[in-house]
Amino acid sequence: MKITDIESKIFEIQLKEPVRTAIGQISVGNTVIVKISTDSGICGLGEGAPTPFVTGDTAKSIQIAITTLKEHLIGMDTLAIEAIHQRMNDCLAYNTSAKAAIDIALHDICAKNAGLPLYRYLGGTNGHVVTDKTIGIGTPEKMAEDAVKAVEQGFEFIKVKTGLSLEDDLLAIELIRKAVGPKIHIKVDANQGWSVKQAIEAIERMRSYDVSFVEQPVSVHDEDGLKQVKESVTLPIMADESCFSPYDALRLIKHRAIDMINIKLMKSGGLFPAIQMANIAEVAGIPCMIGCMMESAIGIAAAVALAAARSNIMYADLDGLLFTKKHPDIRSTIGPIGAEYQLSEESGIGVHVNY
Ligand SMILES: [Mg+2]
Repeated sequence: MKITDIESKIFEIQLKEPVRTAIGQISVGNTVIVKISTDSGICGLGEGAPTPFVTGDTAKSIQIAITTLKEHLIGMDTLAIEAIHQRMNDCLAYNTSAKAAIDIALHDICAKNAGLPLYRYLGGTNGHVVTDKTIGIGTPEKMAEDAVKAVEQGFEFIKVKTGLSLEDDLLAIELIRKAVGPKIHIKVDANQGWSVKQAIEAIERMRSYDVSFVEQPVSVHDEDGLKQVKESVTLPIMADESCFSPYDALRLIKHRAIDMINIKLMKSGGLFPAIQMANIAEVAGIPCMIGCMMESAIGIAAAVALAAARSNIMYADLDGLLFTKKHPDIRSTIGPIGAEYQLSEESGIGVHVNY
């Protein structure tokens, strides 16, 4: 089954409201949807969602990268996913969102060819995944209100964005814990917003609000600082922006700089390298979460399938669809009901697009 064509189109994803983090505000959500055709007649859909301040990709740069990769991939065997990744990496460094789009479309084809839903193609036995809900940065009072709304919608895991102001961060966590009660799991994501000293102080003070773990406390450029934070606090520390690839995962684990990893398909370059990361983490005894960018149902469906397939991916931060309006040309049965995804038994990723 050979690749005969790779097309890409930009789709405008409307946000319900902007999401503010310590490294940038997301207010528009253009995404690139890729369609791969094969000589068997099976087509696959993938997605590259640009997050310029994390991956360095824009919708236009993703399209250019896909055009560049296309000429190297036409004629390759669709089932040879490892060889396709090697070819992509040989001819183009970085550009992980474009590679993720191609990788997801190839997995859609492989799962359709096998007659299996993607989560079962990846080895999963049930398609049930629970996600958290992210609370963007606002006033501490507004953040506590948003957290209560999330709990009312059925979320038991809340991820709180911090990193702009240490005192506001601590007040927000205090108000949220008081508002949601003791049973809700609170995770914190500082998106690199703290210095090492601030991180150590903030995390030690957050212990009293029963925070589960803290994501990316310090800059991606300060790996020694990340290790210093990890060694100085008792809460687990998760790498996000510091950990794009299997190489990053191996290096951070060998350096003993982290306790957990946040895998995202747009950082890793798709499911194949994401599975490598989960495997490296698993043998090192490091649990993973899987997160997302502002992705449509295609990227989210692929990430949910991976979460369903890998026991070491213990947490899902796959709430992107909750922040976006449904696109009229993208149809899928995927979408959390409250905090829960139940994947369908349709073969492939189960998403259809008027392309
Ligand atoms: Mg994060």
